Amino acid sequence: MRILVIEDEKKVASFIKRGLEEAGYSVDLAKDGEEGIYAAESEDYDLIVLDLILPRKSGLEVCKELRQTKIRAPILILSAKDSVDDKVMGLDAGADDYLAKPFAFNELLARIRALLRRGEALSPVKLMIGDLVLDTVSREVTRSGKEIKLTNREYALLEYFMINAGKILSRTQLSEHVWDYTFDTFSNVIDVYINYLRNKVDRDFEPKLIQTVRGIGYVLKLPKEAEEKAETKS
Ligand code: CA
Repeated sequence: MRILVIEDEKKVASFIKRGLEEAGYSVDLAKDGEEGIYAAESEDYDLIVLDLILPRKSGLEVCKELRQTKIRAPILILSAKDSVDDKVMGLDAGADDYLAKPFAFNELLARIRALLRRGEALSPVKLMIGDLVLDTVSREVTRSGKEIKLTNREYALLEYFMINAGKILSRTQLSEHVWDYTFDTFSNVIDVYINYLRNKVDRDFEPKLIQTVRGIGYVLKLPKEAEEKAETKS
């Protein structure tokens, strides 16, 4: 899970970053509103923690702009402004939750967990591509009805591919979402795992779903011919 923290006070920002990292999240910081919008639009975050009083663009403006550009990640406003009016304005601007400073770190963590759960509840339980089925609750994977046993890492990789079916995913995106950190450009860890996954998901089946996009990354999708067949069937 990746979290973006938009906060201009250095001490507060690094305190939040350290605490969230200890809780297992990967965290990026932005130090003003402009930088926050840029980061939120160029990377794919699971949640955004947003301060209200920020240089260059206020938290409210950031919130409104992100919602206008269809960024759907839950936004938690963290602010020293704690009047009811401030909370109402924040929520009306598109935020999902509001926590007043000073706050107990445990409460921040609990609210983040609640927001992330809500996001999961909205996504479907079963992901399907052709005859490949992944159940996100029981974590069972089958292809053509046959069970496929995956390690935790292979499962996380396949789940990320299936959520993003049809989208080309770069090695950087895969490493940040599945491993929570960026590998050295020369590392072949991802390619090794893609091979493991191919052996289990594609080797004994047709059509092949995991495709290499030379120089960019990988994509999970039905090949064109199979897609057309499926369309004429339906
Ligand atoms: Ca501030």
